[in-house]
Amino acid sequence: MLRFSGKVAIVTGSFRTVHGIESSSNGIGRAIAILFAREGAKVTITGRNIKRLEETKQMIVKNGIPEEHVLEIVTDITSGEGQNELINLTIQTFGRLDILVNNAGTGFLDAEGKTGVDQNISDLDKSINLNTRSIVTLTQKAKKYLIEAKGEIVNVSSKAAGPQASPDFIYYGMAKAALDQFTRSAAIDLIRHGVRVNSVSPGLVRTGFGETIEMSDDAFEKMVQSMESNKAYIPCGKAGQPEDIANLIAFLADRKLSSYIIGQTIAIDGGSSLIMGMQAFDMMDVLKS
Ligand code: NDP
Repeated sequence: MLRFSGKVAIVTGSFRTVHGIESSSNGIGRAIAILFAREGAKVTITGRNIKRLEETKQMIVKNGIPEEHVLEIVTDITSGEGQNELINLTIQTFGRLDILVNNAGTGFLDAEGKTGVDQNISDLDKSINLNTRSIVTLTQKAKKYLIEAKGEIVNVSSKAAGPQASPDFIYYGMAKAALDQFTRSAAIDLIRHGVRVNSVSPGLVRTGFGETIEMSDDAFEKMVQSMESNKAYIPCGKAGQPEDIANLIAFLADRKLSSYIIGQTIAIDGGSSLIMGMQAFDMMDVLKS
């Protein structure tokens, strides 16, 4: 018996393939949807781009999963009507909801290239709307069904949430930090009804994230390679893959394995969040010179 047999999951985020890296450049959402479906779940996939959703569906079907185990819903997750459709069609089609993965999210770069406190205030609104507010409202709408199923919510946060500063992505970091507090508080509220809420906090992952924040392919790859080659950025020396994050999310959605974890935001970042300025350099070499 597969571990998610009989379960129904919604995974938000439309799963793009970018930057010309065919084998590994799918988004985190796509990796989650494929893993859940392979482990027996019926999965609703959603995003704004029908072509990418269809690609994801075909990748799932190629894994030997029946087409009727996948429901595609094209919608903007920040829209109330879109969220209603997402929940209602999932229930109509699959009859229940066990797992909600709030993966859709991104940062917004200022159109004039401003960073820090000068970044346009409309970017703050967009960031909060997508990365925080849409998750709160979708949770409200899914709550009834998750309580019926004694289900699980897993949110996707970011290392940008802190506790270190993140001035280049100031509003994105703030929105994800607010999400972390929502994860903690919602977890305590909903565990009374048997629903668990947890979160993952990825560091750098090779996905379409660069494209989303309007970075060119070259600039994104340059950034990734620079971070991989500098232990001050990523101590383990490599960017994460979407499958790394998907595996942790599946663990948090699997009550048999993680039932005692409630309201936690778990770092998955190759060690990045443990680095202090002092550790970024080989102090023994400095002392020897
Ligand atoms: P992607 O850009 O590949 O995925 C983000 C997804 O969110 C896209 O598929 C996008 O789909 C979807 N999305 C954005 N806006 C909306 C919207 N309004 N309505 C519906 N869907 C929307 O990047 P990742 O896979 O990397 O990102 C997944 C999550 O991981 C995000 O929450 C991100 O913040 C987080 N994360 C990523 C890190 C990384 O290094 N890659 C690091 C830390 C956190 P579409 O635009 O097609 O609708």
